[in-house]
Amino acid sequence: VADKDEAQGLKNIRDFLKVRTGYDVFPLSFRLIVLDTDLLINKSLNIMIQNSIVSAPLWDSHTSRFAGLLTATDYMNVIQYYCQFPEEMSKLDQFRLSSLRDIEKAIGAVPIETISVNPLLPLYEACKGMLKTRARRIPLVDKDDETGKEWVVSVITQYRILKFIAVNNEHNTVLLKRTVRELNLGTYTNVATAQMTSPVLDVIQMMVHRNISCVPIIDKDNRLLNVFEAVDIIPCIKGGVYEELAGSVGDALLRRPEDSPGIYTCSEHDRLGAIFDTVRKSRVHRLVVVDDENKLKGIVSLSDILAYVLLSPVD
Ligand code: ADP
Repeated sequence: VADKDEAQGLKNIRDFLKVRTGYDVFPLSFRLIVLDTDLLINKSLNIMIQNSIVSAPLWDSHTSRFAGLLTATDYMNVIQYYCQFPEEMSKLDQFRLSSLRDIEKAIGAVPIETISVNPLLPLYEACKGMLKTRARRIPLVDKDDETGKEWVVSVITQYRILKFIAVNNEHNTVLLKRTVRELNLGTYTNVATAQMTSPVLDVIQMMVHRNISCVPIIDKDNRLLNVFEAVDIIPCIKGGVYEELAGSVGDALLRRPEDSPGIYTCSEHDRLGAIFDTVRKSRVHRLVVVDDENKLKGIVSLSDILAYVLLSPVD
């Protein structure tokens, strides 16, 4: 980082994260839905939909231990399994959350995240762990020193951390004056895209293979129309009916819940400080970079931002 102000801003934010813990990020009041690994996968889907959640920590009640985090990626793996082994479809109704590991193994997917961090550790460490594993959310698991018993305290997401930074560091984020282009923030080559008419299944396969959580939807002139996100598949397989996946992306997006946060875009000339303003005000999950004509240029994920803020060399 060449600019002195920018370097100072980054240093201050890192120092801030070193003296805050997972416990500091929690809102005053929150609920946490933890799912037992004996639960049927199809039932877990309904619970997610009914409670408007997109992930949940898993609990193995046989061993009384935390068993990883259930996310939309796991459902994508189940769909992938169904595509590879159509003859197994009849058994899908009986699969429990504890079968997810076997499903992953069968399709050769990345295992479900079992990493967790202690909420008493500095947030800086939690963030680094998140970036290293490419986890998009991290469960905070505390342990009773005497009994050795574990419990899941909460789950923190990349969004929550960036929002926490944005809200408490306005004086530092204004120092981040370099633009998205200057920082080369995000991905600009080989961006995975789809069209409204693309089959949902193709898009899911793309996301599984490339380990990405969203695909911009463009028209024939490369103009951005929408973004298909991993969580968008949840309403498509509601009730364990997988047939709807044969439909198009356009149809799938119609099933999006009304309160979904929407799509955020930015230009290559936006400063990182301005992006933090957006994070402060809105529930951003990523920014799609477009030009003046709304044509797709690239994508800035929250992990791209977090990696720059935490890991870029400052001296
Ligand atoms: P996040 O970590 O915020 O969930 P992703 O996992 O989707 O974001 O992104 C991981 C990496 O892949 C990031 O560096 C991001 O820039 C890049 N990326 C995200 N979506 C796409 C896409 N559709 N095509 C190509 N690269 C992408």
